[in-house]
Amino acid sequence: MNVTQELLSRLLANQPVTAAELALLLKAQGKACELIYATADGLRSRRMGDEVFLRGIIEFSNICKNNCWYCGIRCDNTSVTRYRMTDEEIIETARNAQRWGCGTVVLQSGEDPFYTAGRLGDILRRIKEETGLAVTLSVGVRSRDELSRLKEAGCDRYLLRFETTSNALFSAIHPDEPFENRVRCLTDLRELGYQVGSGFMIGLPGSTPEMIAHDILFATRLSLDMIGCGPFLSHPDTPLAEKPLLADREIYYKTIALLRLLNPDAHIPATTAFDALDPDGRNLVLQRGANVFMPNVTPGKFRRNYQLYPNKPCVDEDGAACAICVRGRLANLGRPVGSGPGHTKRLP
Ligand code: SF4
Repeated sequence: MNVTQELLSRLLANQPVTAAELALLLKAQGKACELIYATADGLRSRRMGDEVFLRGIIEFSNICKNNCWYCGIRCDNTSVTRYRMTDEEIIETARNAQRWGCGTVVLQSGEDPFYTAGRLGDILRRIKEETGLAVTLSVGVRSRDELSRLKEAGCDRYLLRFETTSNALFSAIHPDEPFENRVRCLTDLRELGYQVGSGFMIGLPGSTPEMIAHDILFATRLSLDMIGCGPFLSHPDTPLAEKPLLADREIYYKTIALLRLLNPDAHIPATTAFDALDPDGRNLVLQRGANVFMPNVTPGKFRRNYQLYPNKPCVDEDGAACAICVRGRLANLGRPVGSGPGHTKRLP
């Protein structure tokens, strides 16, 4: 048995691995790399089934008070036309997402103080009453009190990525808040009974396989219900403009495969940014450990103004076109669309 086979056997047996060992797998090439993908895909099929759950993303505000260095809608970027969808527009979009077969809507925005817990709670209640869909919020760091009120309003899930576990890197690219705030928020979410999603950006400038291995282990230690990761893609209107991709492009995909191997029961989305990395990037991720697809259901007129990274796909489409497209993609992969909300496996 070679080193890759031995490490994969240990992962399948739920035995601990070190960051150095994960870094070895991240550096695997050729047949070893293919074996990692096949093993992750097999485990995904056995533990999560072949269904792919659809979670429709509604990008309801691109206004943000923060200045994260990698982000195209950071507040200092004056080339973005800012928008907020009205409550009615958000709720109508949720209704459309339900018509198009999504079991969940993900309400995503910049850190926009206009959307207080009270305002978001009112929108949430109406979506739950009118559609019964599962609702995920992705609106940045919030206080425990706000999170508590949002849970009472019916919020099911919350996404908040930690982005990197490197203290130096985190503080360099997040001038507005410390790493500890995000960890505190993730802890609050768990204690308040949310289904918790987090993850990181793969290949931030200066990151190494060893650093990515630490990120994978940290995500695993958080015992997440959902793990969402995407490649770092340099945006021209940010301080990280023109930073290159990782030399080994397979590391992006191996990261997803290793996350699956360490987190057999977590929902793992094929995030949209993978399609900006490779035209069939999301398809590849679905064949390497992922089991969730997040079609953009935001009305077409807003999409061009919500580009956290460049070359974002589907910005000239509308929700109906995306819903048709995703079904075609899944059919080509031989994967059925999941029915129902696709809650975490931890629920009774
Ligand atoms: S990553 Fe999020 S918090 Fe940071 S600037 Fe972009 S939208 Fe704002």
